Amino acid sequence: MKTSIATVSISGNFREKLEAIAKAGFAGIEIFEQDFIASDYAPREIGALVRDHGLEITLFQPFRDFEGLPEPYRSRAFARAARKFDLMADLGAELMLVCSTLHPAAMGGIDRAAADFHALGEMAAARGLRLGYEALAWGRHVNDHRDAWEVVRRADHAHVGLILDSFHTLARKIDPETIRRIPGDKIFFVQLADAPAIEMDLLYWSRHFRNMPGEGDLAVTAFLQAVLATGYAGPLSLEIFNDQFRAGLPRLVARDGYRSLVDLMDRARRAEPALAVDLPDFPPPAAVQAVEFIEIVTSTDQQAELAGFLATLGFTQTAQHISKAVTRWQQGAINLLINTEDTGFAHSSYVAHGTTVSEIALRVPDALAAKARAQALGIAPHLEPAAPNELTIPAIRGVGGSLLRFVDAKAPLNQLWQQDFTTTRPISKAAGLTQIDHIAQTMAYDEMLSWSLFYHALFDARKAPMVDVVDPDGLVRSQAVETGALKITLNGAEARRTLAGRFVEDSFGSAVQHIAFGSDDIFATASALAANGFQALSIGANYYDDVEARFGLAPELTERLRAANVLYDEDAGGQFFQLYSQTRPEGLFVEIVQRQGNYTGYGAANAPFRIAAQKRATRPAGMPRF
Ligand code: MG
Ligand code: MG
Repeated sequence: MKTSIATVSISGNFREKLEAIAKAGFAGIEIFEQDFIASDYAPREIGALVRDHGLEITLFQPFRDFEGLPEPYRSRAFARAARKFDLMADLGAELMLVCSTLHPAAMGGIDRAAADFHALGEMAAARGLRLGYEALAWGRHVNDHRDAWEVVRRADHAHVGLILDSFHTLARKIDPETIRRIPGDKIFFVQLADAPAIEMDLLYWSRHFRNMPGEGDLAVTAFLQAVLATGYAGPLSLEIFNDQFRAGLPRLVARDGYRSLVDLMDRARRAEPALAVDLPDFPPPAAVQAVEFIEIVTSTDQQAELAGFLATLGFTQTAQHISKAVTRWQQGAINLLINTEDTGFAHSSYVAHGTTVSEIALRVPDALAAKARAQALGIAPHLEPAAPNELTIPAIRGVGGSLLRFVDAKAPLNQLWQQDFTTTRPISKAAGLTQIDHIAQTMAYDEMLSWSLFYHALFDARKAPMVDVVDPDGLVRSQAVETGALKITLNGAEARRTLAGRFVEDSFGSAVQHIAFGSDDIFATASALAANGFQALSIGANYYDDVEARFGLAPELTERLRAANVLYDEDAGGQFFQLYSQTRPEGLFVEIVQRQGNYTGYGAANAPFRIAAQKRATRPAGMPRF
């Protein structure tokens, strides 16, 4: 289907916007009057510029306060429309959006509005133009697409149709199924936007908090399904008013917009296969079966220290790569790799970030299909040829330029380890770590929506509601995304002085800040770790007094928690235990968790205490206590 985006959705001057929109893959733009009022170009030049970028103007907007006016306002509104028709002719725009009136003098009445639209439709037809009527959620008399449709139906003019906007329908909780009754050829244009579920004034919500489909909480897929069921085959256009996007990089916002639109169309056709969705076929989201390995890149100088740290956690170096400076560390079902190559991707990753997680490998049912889906969503593949006789593992670019690899579950079990590694010794001194529970990726706050969309589109990952984590020096937003065996927490730092913010700054961009391993018995694990010389993050005594009172814990349990520096949380489903390592010099740390019953969270309630303890632990000597 023809994809389009409103120019207001992204930042930059008009030329920058066009370049970003064309490069992202869109076919058209909705043009806003403000764009050329602010621009040096004449309307004709703007039209030519748009076409030079291989784009078409799908919509001219907005024309406000038109219908239901008494004289002399009515005549003035028609005169104003005539001026806009001239402008549209210069631009080469064929469809004008008329939004429902907010004019204080406007009178209600479906028939009065319909008569005005019929008259304006005559004027438009004479110029070869069309009109689309959109119900604003806060419209004075018309604020529901069902009423707007009734106006259009009664206007009964071939050049007058309906414009649907998912925000206006879904924000007012109007059932999108009602759209199915509208004839598809009377829907002239469809605008799509999502938004987070926040209770606030509709106008303010719409102007500042809209986001890309899939980034928010509105039922945009159900909306699109209903639209497509009418037989509508016109443009699908993003109209996103968002303060963050207006301050973001045009190229990245346009890329995310295109990705969200492709993913949305794909969701609609998977949810309702009978729909005719004009979109090339590509594989469905992969079900992640396991985190196969996590690779940490470091230098030869720092390798021994990192290896020592893994040893205190109960990992054994069990294998060595056949041709690269890569070692395999194992415990339970967990595989960690330490890479000290001095060329290639891993090394450039080290040069950019220091010691960091450079790759996360996921076992999926079909690795090439997972990569093909990523490419269809505009996610760049990573190409680095494997040496002869070594396994080629498809990879794409993920957070902070790190790699996400897809290990094919159809391949013989352990093929990777048998083909590319030579075994050196068996696992010993394990501390009961069983598998990777979750991976925490930390980034600047304004990157969070982008990465949440990345996982949502690629894997159909579920998103938990965003939570605010209080760092003593500012707020950190945290959102969990989960798909099969992959659980990721995205942490967005707003302030530099937060632990997360300092991490982003010190590691020169987004990266994995902690890896959480599961244990079936955290107290046994804590003892085993202590015997290995593991240094746990020391939690203050005040915390345990509070947690005992808060959850009514038995004093014996509180004592065990305190003795082992284990944090505690619970929800309706079960209990959660957490033990943290001290923060390593490069900012990375490790968490060990035990989930009991069906606890579904990540211990967000404990994060402020954990962060305070981490800051205390890294406080330079002589600094006052806090
Ligand atoms: Mg709209
Ligand atoms: Mg965690």
